[in-house]
Amino acid sequence: MRVPYVDLAGQYAPFREEVMAAVGRVLDHGWFILGEEVKEVEAAFARMAGTRYAIGVANGTDALILPMRGLGIGAGDEVIVPPNSYLASASSVALVGATPVFVDVCDDYNLDPAKIEAAITPRTKAIMAVHLTGRPANMRAILAIAEKHGLHVLEDAAQAVGATYFGQGVGSLGIAGGFSLHPLKNLNAAGDAGMITTNDESLYEYLLKARTHGHRNRDVVDFWSFNSRLDTLQAAIIQAKLPYVEGWNQRRREIAATYQARLGDLVWVPRDAEGEHAVYHTFIIQTPQRDALQQYLAEQGVDTKIHYPVPIHLQPAAAYLGYKKGDFPVTERQTETILSLPVFPELTDVQVDYVCATIEAFFAQK
Ligand SMILES: *Cc1c(COP(=O)(O)O)cnc(C)c1O
Repeated sequence: MRVPYVDLAGQYAPFREEVMAAVGRVLDHGWFILGEEVKEVEAAFARMAGTRYAIGVANGTDALILPMRGLGIGAGDEVIVPPNSYLASASSVALVGATPVFVDVCDDYNLDPAKIEAAITPRTKAIMAVHLTGRPANMRAILAIAEKHGLHVLEDAAQAVGATYFGQGVGSLGIAGGFSLHPLKNLNAAGDAGMITTNDESLYEYLLKARTHGHRNRDVVDFWSFNSRLDTLQAAIIQAKLPYVEGWNQRRREIAATYQARLGDLVWVPRDAEGEHAVYHTFIIQTPQRDALQQYLAEQGVDTKIHYPVPIHLQPAAAYLGYKKGDFPVTERQTETILSLPVFPELTDVQVDYVCATIEAFFAQK
């Protein structure tokens, strides 16, 4: 048997007609930039996240950069970020001119609230709470710290479309949420796309201009900004898929529950904390025998990944920040022990059983 890590063609097949019809409608009306579908999918996305506003942008990285610019975060400012994330959580901070300040994570790969306050300085402007793997970060603790120190909380919800925290959608908890709709994310376009959520009206007004060169209207610009518009074609595709994302996430949770039940005694498995409704963008186990297990799984036809093999603070790009090995022991230890199992919704029960049986066989042979 072969179990791939993802199967994008398999995801598309059942929705082929709906997606093609949506694409056809856009090609027919020809309004390719900020067309009606962009407004419609923004409204639907805001409903899902539980925010007043959602703003479509070109990708998930811009969905972090533009709100920071809107909040006036820039040169001389510091933003707290976890070192175990996709690099864009930190590069977005650097790209607005501010300094990423790393704080170690908990078992669940998300910011450790107990370590945040020691990293706060007079220059700190915001905390970037990443909901890594589709599990909400400990927002109650993070928001309390932010309030005490007068900081913004930004949510990097790139991996967490549809996740909730004590009943509230991620992206509605901080001042703004940044989502990626990249092909490998839980809700995905046929290319790059992103979405920003916020309840803040003045930030919303800023973002509407900021994603399109700073234009106030056709002829006047209020400030220099990027071209980071969401293509109408991508908006139409996302719109066609959005009604299914909850079901896909439910299937991810079902697969996660099977992994938790079958593998929990053999390896460390993630488990939902109180109030947390995770959407398992990735299902990351931990074991000291990670490399041998990954090789064994590959030999048996099971594809796995490592998210992420190099922590951000040890990336060559981050060398100028002066961090060194040993600075973030939890993240660095996880780098050696983490393994992402296939968890995409189209996996069959037979495939999930095979992944479990193969891992059981690996540990039985020891
Ligand atoms: C994917 C991702 C991003 C960046 O999204 P893009 O759409 O690729 O720009 C940012 N943060 C996290 C945690 C991600 O997983």
